[in-house]
Order: sequence, then C-alpha cells, then structure tokens
Amino acid sequence: MLVVGAGFGGMYALHALRGRGFSVRVVERGHGVGGTWYWNRYPGARCDIESLEYSYSFSPELVREWEWTQRYPTQPEMLAYAEHVADRFDLCPDITFGTSVTSAEYVEDARRWGIRTDTGEVIDARFLVLATGVLSAAAVPELPGQDRFRGRVVHTGSWPDDVEVEGLRVGVIGTGSSGIQVVPHLAARAAELTVFQRTANYSISAANEPLDAAYVQEVRDHYEELRERARWSFTGSTVPIIRESALAVGERTRRRRFEERWRRGGFAFLGAFDDIMRDLRANRLAAEFVEERIRAAVDDPETAELLVPRGHPIGSRRICVDTGYHATFNQSHVRLVDVREAPITGLSAEGVLTADGAERPLDLLVLATGFDAMTGSFVRIDVRGRNGRTLREAWAEGARTYLGLQVSGFPNLFTLTGPGSPAVLCNMFLAIEQHVDWVTGLLTHLREHGIDTVEADPGAEAEWGETVAAAAERTFYPMADSWYSGANVPGKARGFLPYAGGVGKYRRICEAVAADEYRGFLLTAPVPQI
Ligand code: NAP
Repeated sequence: MLVVGAGFGGMYALHALRGRGFSVRVVERGHGVGGTWYWNRYPGARCDIESLEYSYSFSPELVREWEWTQRYPTQPEMLAYAEHVADRFDLCPDITFGTSVTSAEYVEDARRWGIRTDTGEVIDARFLVLATGVLSAAAVPELPGQDRFRGRVVHTGSWPDDVEVEGLRVGVIGTGSSGIQVVPHLAARAAELTVFQRTANYSISAANEPLDAAYVQEVRDHYEELRERARWSFTGSTVPIIRESALAVGERTRRRRFEERWRRGGFAFLGAFDDIMRDLRANRLAAEFVEERIRAAVDDPETAELLVPRGHPIGSRRICVDTGYHATFNQSHVRLVDVREAPITGLSAEGVLTADGAERPLDLLVLATGFDAMTGSFVRIDVRGRNGRTLREAWAEGARTYLGLQVSGFPNLFTLTGPGSPAVLCNMFLAIEQHVDWVTGLLTHLREHGIDTVEADPGAEAEWGETVAAAAERTFYPMADSWYSGANVPGKARGFLPYAGGVGKYRRICEAVAADEYRGFLLTAPVPQI
C-alpha cells in the first residue's frame, strides 16, 4: 500500500495498516512528519482545539506519557508531538521524505496503481491512500503585478523559516483563523501593520492557559469514557452542548451562560444553548454577545464597526479562536483596511493597490488567504482512474465520494478525510482514527475473503451526495460563503463539502455499512488465471 502524506492521517494509517501485517510505504512532501503542523509555522500558529482532545487516542501509553503544556498547543508543540509519535512507533523507516507524488494511474489489467514522484521514482501499489490533508493546498489569490513588487510575499500555510518581520512595513491579506492568529504576533514586531479585511469573522477568545496537573489527571482518569462520548457525539467534542433553548430563558440567565462559556473559551461557546446552530433567533443572541465583545475591545468606533461580522450567522463560517486579536487594532501602528468596498487590484513595486486608487507601501506581504480546501490536495496530484479519467474531471461539477472515503471509477483508492466526511466539522484526530480504523477493517476483510478490488458503487455514491447535501440544508452553513462550500476558490464547483450530520451519526452509518458486507462498495475477486 502506498500512503501519500505523513501528517497525522498518514502517520496513523501507516501504524494501523502495518499493525495488521500489510506492507505499507509513505511518501511525504515535507522533510519531516506533521503535515499541516509541519507547514503552518507562521508566528502565532496554534491549535484551536484543546490539546487533550486534539491528539491520538489509539494508544493508552501514548496518552499517559505525552505531557501537553497548554490547553491550546503552539505549532512547535504540535510538531514535537508528531515527531514523538513517529519515534515512539518507529514510523520513519517506512516514510520517504522530501518527495511529492505527482501522478497515480490505475492500471486496469494489473488492478494496481502506478505512482510517480517528483524524484523520478515509479511505485507500484495495490492500494493507494491519499492522506494529503484537507487544508494543505494553498489558495493564493491572483495579484497582478506580483513580479514587480520589491517586497517579499509569503503564505501562512507554507511559512519559510527565514521571514524577517522586525521593523518592517507588513501587510496581511485575510482575516480567517490564520490571519486572526498571525496578526497580533506580527504587530508585536513590525514597524507598521496593515490588515486587509474583506470579510470580518466571528472569533471567540481562546482563554488559553497552562494545563493544570489536577485537570490533566482528571482527564486521564476518565480518558476512554470521555473519548468514547466524543466519538458518538454530534461535534466530536467532550464539552457538552447544553440542552436548553436560548429563547427559553430570561435575559440574565442567558447572559450568565454566554459569559461562562466565553470565559471557558473556544468552540464551547456555540454549545451554550442547543439552538444556537438551529434557530436564527438564538443564533442572533449569541452573535450579539460576541459583537458586544468586539466593540468593547476596540477603542476606535469606526474600526470596531468594520470588525463586526455582517451578513452571516455565527458559526456558519468556521468560527475563529483568538488571543487578543481585536485589541491589536488599538495599537497606533496597526491599521485595518476594508477591501470589500475597494478590493485589492494587484501589487505595485511598492505595495498593495486597491480599487480606490490607494497604494499601501509594504516590505512584507503575508497571504493568510486559506486553502483550496478538502479537494485541492487530491486533485493537484494527476490521479487517473478507470479509462484514464482524472479525479479533477470526476469532481469538475462538484466533489462526490461514498462516505468521504472512495470515488467511483477509482478502485482501491481512499481519500482520507475527503469531501463527504465529517472530519473538518469535528476534531480531526477523532475523524482520522475512525477513518483509518474503518479502512483497515475493510482491507482486512478483503484479504480474508480473497477480494482484490474495492470501489464505490456509483448509486451509493450518488445517494451519499444527496445525504451530504440534505444534512447541510438542515444547518446554517449554506447561508455563508466559505471554504466549506468551495466559495473561496474562483471557478471551483460550489457545494457543501463536509458531511454535517454529526460524527456520531456518521460513525453509526459506517458501522452499519461494514456490518452489511460493505454495502455500497463493489468488491471484486481476482480474475482466475488460465
Ligand atoms: P480562510 O478561513 O479561508 O481565510 C482566508 C481569508 O483570506 C479570508 O478572510 C478571505 O476573505 C481572505 N482572502 C482571500 N483572498 C482574498 C483577496 N483576494 N482579497 C482579500 N481577502 C482575501 O483561511 P485560513 O484562515 O487559513 O483558515 C482556513 C481553515 O484552516 C480554518 O477555517 C481552520 O479550519 C483551519 N485553521 C485552523 C487553525 C487552528 O487550529 N489554529 C489555524 C489556522 C487555520 P473572504 O472571507 O472575504 O473570502
């Protein structure tokens, strides 16, 4: 088997598949493990899900021995964890680093994949697992004139080690999770910081703090029980959604609850009541609370109004989690530029040009412009299935998969945490472990039953597409443009990509499919040799 990518998905795939006696090799573009956490080295990069949840659960020894220092680990801490896991489970001997897979072709007669790399190697594999990540293919806006810009341009998602910020005039395009994290850190070192904002996002205070030993012990004492609850929950979090309507309580109770959850920090805020994500009136009450916080944090009323999100319900775009983002704009050398009214038109030799004729001189331009999410990392490889059809062609009208794991016409290919999976709407570790365990179970079944190919049935795939679309329709997600629906990449087919029916429900569906002899998958026995 060939696994592409040594992020947390590929690492666990290697460990789990090898553990079942399969012969596995991993090819990784970076020079180390960690995937997203290897590449996103921008100042301030930090996980926005709690460390005790955003980590592997498959090994009780690993859970016991790894000491997280903070509720929200920094990127270096996440990377150190990835490296520790790689050492602990002896993964590196089976990983080829610094190598990109450029193409993969299904050879129909041999029922095998022919894979090529940028180092000229040709790899022959029976199964191909794409663990290339959901937020790993950078979305870089077209900026006419970039070649004449005398400053430097860097993307947060592939941050080089030698970026100088000290004393420079720095610009940031983008105010999603990456922008919101990097801005306070750049402000601390830059001479001037200009933030180009097209859409303001809701951001919840992280309330980050060092982990308290008693709390860690308590989690460890109940670890399996907490994890198991998360696995079958809606959001994949161990923090419960409070089963009460925001509309059923009085103003004082509601405020107290919002304040409690705000102090707790992070995503748990959206679980302060169980109808914030179901009822627009409840959602507005939560949004107003956050908007008040923005107005309170920002001194200049005009800047504060620009930072208040408009036109989308809270939670319909992925919520951000920040430390001091809004207050950064109180510093005299930090300025917010609204590029919704006057969009960026390109770059001059000096800096960023906007449609109102302004030129903002810069030495360093940071693109916090996000990713061609959920499909980009798959289709950037020239993957060809039956009859030479590419994955890009198969997904031209919209990504379709069965259970987020397989695509019809691409036998023995797995798209880990792909479109149609709930992964990005929950804790990625939870999704990765579930996907890998499930795929490992399927491959073991094939081996035990002498089956040599597995492929999504087109009917089951179409039905799953309808299920994914219907689940999204029951939420507020379609009320916003975001990377969830491909809206952030010009020309990309629109359609809600993740399965929004809940991770617990998804797990139940997967288990039922497996119990029903892998219903919806076409399993083919080898052709007898004459
Ligand atoms: P993002 O949420 O897609 O944000 C990209 C930003 O760039 C948006 O503000 C977008 O504006 C702006 N933008 C793009 N092109 C532009 C243009 N031509 N002119 C002006 N603005 C432009 O990307 P991200 O911040 O990298 O986050 C992506 C996801 O990665 C997150 O939602 C999260 O799931 C994950 N992430 C997680 C963490 C964490 O755990 N700590 C950190 C970073 C990222 P519009 O909104 O108007 O398009």
